[in-house]
Amino acid sequence: MHAYYADHFVLPLPPGHRFPMAKYARLRQRLQGELPGVVLREALPASDGELALVHAPAYVQAVAQGTLDPRAQREIGFPWSPAMAERARRSVGATVQAVRQAMAGDGIAANLAGGTHHAHADRGSGFCVFNDAAVAARLAQTEHARRDRTSAPLRVAVIDLDVHQGNGTASIFARDETVFTLSLHGARNFPFRKEASDLDVELPDGCDDDAYLEALERALEDMSHRFEPGLIIYLAGADPHEGDRLGRLRLSFDGLEARDRRVFDWAWQRRVPLAFTMAGGYGHDIETTVQVQVNTYRAALDYRARWARRTASSA
Ligand SMILES: [Zn+2]
Repeated sequence: MHAYYADHFVLPLPPGHRFPMAKYARLRQRLQGELPGVVLREALPASDGELALVHAPAYVQAVAQGTLDPRAQREIGFPWSPAMAERARRSVGATVQAVRQAMAGDGIAANLAGGTHHAHADRGSGFCVFNDAAVAARLAQTEHARRDRTSAPLRVAVIDLDVHQGNGTASIFARDETVFTLSLHGARNFPFRKEASDLDVELPDGCDDDAYLEALERALEDMSHRFEPGLIIYLAGADPHEGDRLGRLRLSFDGLEARDRRVFDWAWQRRVPLAFTMAGGYGHDIETTVQVQVNTYRAALDYRARWARRTASSA
């Protein structure tokens, strides 16, 4: 299974900054050491033209040149630097490549970062500069249309299980019937003014494994009556974990693994290619966050094996 990384483009943060930047390199290190089935590849940067499928050109230029006004920069939560701008492009590029790899026959592929779902078309927010899932979805649709001009548009489901609402993604696709946005999130968590996804499920503080998995089941059931995707982009946020500083929910490692497997199963039953991204994770102990993510990769490898068997038997 291919997975794309950009953690070696280090974003300089002031001492004491609350974003756990080290988790990205740590995840790559652990995957390298423990899961040889994960083929790690450097992410390429998304181009201006790719970003413009979703983002306002003036915003893309302001990020590239470091000319965002101070309020807009504060809303993102990272200080500007050339490395910040480069990293943001690579993070989108990683999801774009994961989508292409999944669509090209692998069935499943990943981004070791990404899931920057608070980014809107013309502004960033909450540690999110560009919206990787939105750009990757639009680009996949464009490439699909180019391959076959007569076919129906590619329909994309964004399944966002980060603990925070995917408000940027919801607003970008608000009037787009070819993209279905599903978000399960903490009702009392950031962002406090939420946007309308195609399907929003609000969870109470302290929500445990059983309640969460039941809510997920209902949401997937609901979505299957309303939408038939040709591609899934899954935000496997680690922040619903009970050891998270910001999450407010109480999922265990097992609960989160069951969550991941349910999503992968849903995709596999329909034979829909899936690309997944890491999204948030702010463990009191960073190793907790990384462990949740490693578990997601371990589960994903089982699905990659199913796709590989299917390809082998149809060849
Ligand atoms: Zn989050």
